[in-house]
Amino acid sequence: MQKVKLPLTVDPFKSAQKRLDYDGIFVIKLLERLTEATEGVISDCEAKLSFDIDAQGLKIVRGNAKVDVQLECQRCWEVFPHHCEIEFIYSPVFNEDQVGNLPDAYEPALVDENGEINLLQLIEDELIVALPQVAMHDEEDCKVDSEDMVFGEIPLADERPNPFAVLKNLKQSNEE
Ligand SMILES: [Zn+2]
Repeated sequence: MQKVKLPLTVDPFKSAQKRLDYDGIFVIKLLERLTEATEGVISDCEAKLSFDIDAQGLKIVRGNAKVDVQLECQRCWEVFPHHCEIEFIYSPVFNEDQVGNLPDAYEPALVDENGEINLLQLIEDELIVALPQVAMHDEEDCKVDSEDMVFGEIPLADERPNPFAVLKNLKQSNEE
């Protein structure tokens, strides 16, 4: 079934009053920042959004999003597919001060000068934050373990590890 394209920006107040639901996609080519943060985006981003008004009268949008990307394994340097899925509840705010008033479960969605929030930007931010800090294959899928580094030019691979050297390397890579 053909999925509908999601609007990039919406008026969260009107949408909440109408209790709008969206179920659709952002196509790959819109996901420029996610593409830059990974080795490539390989599926459209599917998202479901429900606008609502909570018991306190706050306008909210609750939803989830998922996308498939390519990441580079930091152990064997091969690219592998990674499924990324997030859930969120946003509530529109007009300024920093209002952020502090939101319940902890809600994340702020800044309202722009047109009275709209940028759905694409919010969801893309959330997907980028949810990427693993160090991307790696599962052990059983990783070349480094399963093929005993046949192709290896992996640093430190054939040294018996000196714990201090390892620490030093870790430290250096953290400082980069
Ligand atoms: Zn690997």
